[in-house]
Order: sequence, then structure tokens, then C-alpha cells
Amino acid sequence: FFYGPGQVHGDEVILTDDDAHHLLRVLRASVGQEVELCDDKGSCRRAVIAGVDHGEVRCRLGHELPDSEAVIRFYLAFGVLKGEKTEFILQKATELGAAGFFPFTSERSVVRPDKKAEKIQKRWQKIIHGAAAQSRRAIIPQLNPPCKWPDVLDLSKTFDKVVFFWESEEDRPLAKSLEGCSRGDRVLLITGPEGGFSAKEAAALGKLGIEPVTLGPRILRAETAAVVATAVALYQVGELG
Ligand code: SAM
Repeated sequence: FFYGPGQVHGDEVILTDDDAHHLLRVLRASVGQEVELCDDKGSCRRAVIAGVDHGEVRCRLGHELPDSEAVIRFYLAFGVLKGEKTEFILQKATELGAAGFFPFTSERSVVRPDKKAEKIQKRWQKIIHGAAAQSRRAIIPQLNPPCKWPDVLDLSKTFDKVVFFWESEEDRPLAKSLEGCSRGDRVLLITGPEGGFSAKEAAALGKLGIEPVTLGPRILRAETAAVVATAVALYQVGELG
């Protein structure tokens, strides 16, 4: 469970609303049971349920837990996909260890940003939150509002390293691009929408010195590619095995 500064009272944290409901009704937790709590800076501690008052849960903080976050922070910029496919990406990449998300639409996107954007983002946020809690992440990956294609190019300039996964790239593996990355680096992984990247978009990335990399000779579904890209990146830096 995650908590903010406003929930801390001395050595206790008060869980309310959805968290309290989940703890009491779904997990059927009771006084004396242990839970793990993480603050908004990624520090996690063991805690024990000290009391339940009016549907709120009082947890007494205990010892600190080791940091489970990856030594290199991998962020995922991905083409927004139709329906539940975007939710799949957010959930699975959060479980794996992505540090944050930059959804975008580009030339060959099937979906367009719509009027329900705010509602959809709330839903996405909830999915990330749930996945982070279930995977015992020390942080909730940050979700940025969807942007349109050229903005991804500007965004790229704020990372230590950027790679884009291109279905037309035949040779360059991710390992080669990650050589030279070190602890604390922020790396942006970019994967495309259902229609992939246009030659123009690939050229614009190339102009910025951003290397295209391959995920192998078979074309993966866009949602598979985003999740596999995250997994392969974490594996390359020794986080998944
Ligand atoms: N049309 C299918 C779909 O609707 O899911 C495939 C889409 S694929 C073109 C979408 C994105 O996945 C690509 O832009 C690329 O980022 C990534 N991708 C898929 N297979 C790849 C591969 N073998 N190597 C590198 N990237 C790949």
C-alpha cells in the first residue's frame, strides 16, 4: 500500500477509502496483521495494523524494507492502443518494473485522444496503482498525459539514453544500445502503435541520434512489443535474472 505525507500521524499511517476497503474487505485483514507500506519517495516499511476506526485502518510503522527498484530507471513511451491493450501494457510493464509512462498518438495510431481522456487516465492510474501494489513496487510509476507525436521528440531530450523499437530494424539488438548505461541513468524506451512508425517518424528520431533496435525477426503485436521491450531492457541490466 502507498501513502502520502498527510496520512502520517507520529509513527502511524492511516489508510482510508479504497485502500482501507481493500485491506479489510478483500484481503480480510485484521488488527495485529502485518502489511507493507511505501511512501511517495519510494521508501517501504513493514507495518502492523494497530486498529480499525470508522472504516479507517491505523498501521504502526516498523522497520525499513530493502529497495526493490531497478538501478536504471526505464520509462516507456508507447503508442496508445485500442481498448484494453493499453491497460495491458500499463499493468504488465508496472509489474516488471517500468519507472513511468508516456502514452502518445502518432501518424499510424488507430486511436485518437478523445473527450473521455480524463476518465480514461483515472482508470489507467488505478491499474498502475493496483499493479504496483501487487508487485510490491517501492514507487507508483508516473503516468504522464497522452501527447501527440512530435512532442515525443522533445521529451527524448530529457533522458540519459533513448532507444526506439523499430519493426524495420534488422540488426541492432537492445544490448548494444544499453552499453555504457550506468546506475541512476534514466532510459526512455519507445514502442509504436498498431500501425508502427512511419519512415518520416523513424527519420526524425534518427536525426536526434536515437538508435532503432530490433526485438527479433518476427513482428510482435504492439502491446506484446511494449511489454517485451521493458522485460528485455530490465534483463539486460541484470534486473530480471
Ligand atoms: N499490426 C500489429 C498490431 O496491431 O499490433 C503489429 C504492430 S507493430 C508494427 C507495433 C510496434 O511494436 C512497432 O512500431 C515497434 O515499436 C514494435 N515492434 C513489434 N515487433 C518488433 C520487432 N520485431 N522489433 C522491434 N520492434 C517491434
